[in-house]
Amino acid sequence: MQTKLTPLIQKRPDSAEIDSILRSCVHCGFCNATCPTYNVLGDELDGPRGRIYLLKQLFEGSDITRATQSHLDRCLTCRACETTCPSGVRYGRLLDIGRGIVELNVPRSISAKIVRFFLRTVVPYRRRFKFLFFLVQTLRPLAPRKIKKWIPVVSSHSDRWPASKHQRQVLLLEGCVQPALAPAINLKVATVLDKLAITPLKIKNEGCCGALSHHLAAHQQSTDFIKRNIDQWWPYVEAGIEAIVSTASGCGVMVKDYGDIMQYDAVYAEKARRIAALTCDISELILAEKIPVSNSGQGTSVAFHNPCTLQHGQKVLNAVETILQRQGYQLLETDGAQDCCGSAGVYSFLQRAIAQRLLADKLFSLEVMKPDVIVTANVGCQMHLQSAARVPVIHWIDLL
Ligand code: SF4
Ligand code: SF4
Repeated sequence: MQTKLTPLIQKRPDSAEIDSILRSCVHCGFCNATCPTYNVLGDELDGPRGRIYLLKQLFEGSDITRATQSHLDRCLTCRACETTCPSGVRYGRLLDIGRGIVELNVPRSISAKIVRFFLRTVVPYRRRFKFLFFLVQTLRPLAPRKIKKWIPVVSSHSDRWPASKHQRQVLLLEGCVQPALAPAINLKVATVLDKLAITPLKIKNEGCCGALSHHLAAHQQSTDFIKRNIDQWWPYVEAGIEAIVSTASGCGVMVKDYGDIMQYDAVYAEKARRIAALTCDISELILAEKIPVSNSGQGTSVAFHNPCTLQHGQKVLNAVETILQRQGYQLLETDGAQDCCGSAGVYSFLQRAIAQRLLADKLFSLEVMKPDVIVTANVGCQMHLQSAARVPVIHWIDLL
């Protein structure tokens, strides 16, 4: 594709990257076939090819309109289009850059500003979110049934953080909402790692990975989170930590992208690249450990929802499935395994109608074979699926 970036865009440090991504798209449209929003809305501008065209116009100086903003807002950032694209177009990266520019140029309505401000100032802060969630949990019994199903119940757990001191050590990312919504996940992971003779370390002052702010195009805030995390983790990297392990694929993909996001920062670029390279999903780590085959899962049928952030963002395929099958679980085939469930961070709040439609389609595919349990690998997907599922929805680690 020919490009003619405006002088202003050409002055940006990422202009060569923008140009090269735009040029790599040959407009074949294959990506539209797997784009959830294109399939739901049927509008070319709500598919990846159309959005790339809008972004090209934006970088070439066309007026930036509210309509452009809406089409970009409706993108789930699921990156299914990247998996499908035969030309390797890095759509997600182009979208992130474009959203940042649109956000600075198209004012939002007062109500949208308030909602976004609330999300940015509460959700990424563990203590604030925990407090809010505590209030919501306390009021849950009084809520009407329709609302109640949206409020997850935190199950009790007996695991304790292991007091292990193995030679092999990894950093275990806590995340900002997972400790409140599903605290048992990391405890379970810590127990499993301990049994594999790996010490999981928690970092006290670790903050949000920055994903939420990044997808809301609040790039200054996400960069601040990234720098803070790099500063916190760096001493461990220098001390030879084996890996930085994520148990929520939404956080994992963000940290794996630190290298790309920070590549133009003179101070943090190299550190971000090293941290991204050290980061892995818990399924990658456990798969590499080749845990012994067992039949502990025999008799339990499982439907696995592989989150977009794991399969399309991190390109991790068949890791969870292989681990569970080695433990004797019966993995059920599901249609549309590559499709988004509609959770997509805060998308399910901001684009409720599309998110609900995708949720219904996804649950139909997952439940049609009547599994005993649905498992996934990201707390956001877990909560979203749980809100309407007829069978329990858990993190796959709970099956180990
Ligand atoms: S992003 Fe890839 S699949 Fe989509 S139109 Fe461009 S080249 Fe084709
Ligand atoms: S990221 Fe997902 S929703 Fe967005 S254009 Fe690509 S396939 Fe469509």
